Amino acid sequence: MTFPFSRRKPPPQPPEVPHGVPFAVTDELISCEGLSLSFGKGKSSSPAIADVSFSVFPGEFVCVMGPSGCGKSTVLNVLAGFIPPTRGRVLLNRERIGGADRHRGVVFQKPPLFEWFSVRKNIAFGPRMRGLPKGEIARLTDLYLARVGLEESADRMVYELSGGMRQRVAIARSLINDPEILLMDEPFGALDALTREQMQDLVRRIWWNTRKTIFFITHDVDEALKLATRVLVMSKSPGTIVKDLPAGFSRAYAEGADDRIWFSEDFYRARREILDLITGRSGDGAAGAAGADEQGAPAPERPFNASGARGGAPDGLCGTPSAGH
Ligand code: ADP
Ligand code: MG
Repeated sequence: MTFPFSRRKPPPQPPEVPHGVPFAVTDELISCEGLSLSFGKGKSSSPAIADVSFSVFPGEFVCVMGPSGCGKSTVLNVLAGFIPPTRGRVLLNRERIGGADRHRGVVFQKPPLFEWFSVRKNIAFGPRMRGLPKGEIARLTDLYLARVGLEESADRMVYELSGGMRQRVAIARSLINDPEILLMDEPFGALDALTREQMQDLVRRIWWNTRKTIFFITHDVDEALKLATRVLVMSKSPGTIVKDLPAGFSRAYAEGADDRIWFSEDFYRARREILDLITGRSGDGAAGAAGADEQGAPAPERPFNASGARGGAPDGLCGTPSAGH
């Protein structure tokens, strides 16, 4: 996709990543088929999710949104293998997920790190547990310290770190195990706005440079649209998928579009559509353009489109990024 607001060259690709094929793979990485899960037994049993079905393809950045308590974390926990579904099944590369393992990395809002270990030791934990040779552990640790921008803090203790730095450690500690998919549950929900934006840039850069598949829960519609190639919207409890929206903003930005893309008419329209679905409100997004929405962000008064002109959405900006599905 080309985007007219070109601000810079696309970032260089690391050598281990093949060029030009990131979204060309059509084999499903994750298949969720009719997932239902109830907590409790007998009369006290209550359904958390009902008949959740979706697929995730390699290289996708899937963001999940939905009302609080609708079952987003429950879906993630099933994908991680932490809890089995009551009904349905979840496959990774066509094989049933039987429990937690390193093929799915998980990052929570409050990452459970080893507080009294250094950053380096925390990141090296997985490879050490796998018994990799010392030299290889050191090489991988240096690589992932660099990927999350923590080279300078490698020897600091985790208890000394800020929230954003802790999340960087958590991300590196997951990625170093080379999981097939990174599962993130509102990872930036507790961070201040500036740090949050920096972390979004970091995750997008990692996704773009490594082509890692990411499944990311957020309650922030702007965050979802700034990161995702697809947004899954869930209904209220017991949650099910009510909308599967392709989103092209993150990829366009990674390819060189500038910040104005976040204020484009297409962005605004997608934002409105998602919020309307979540809040159960209906109507044309443009109708609400004058006010502040429930996330507190004022709507742009005169949204401009992707070509910089007022009005008229260009084709393809929100299109599926040539994934072939
Ligand atoms: P979300 O992440 O969308 O906010 P959750 O997946 O955490 O929602 O929860 C979905 C529903 O399942 C909620 O009603 C919640 O109270 C319930 N729930 C979640 N975890 C448990 C648990 N371990 N035991 C009992 N009920 C739970
Ligand atoms: Mg949750």
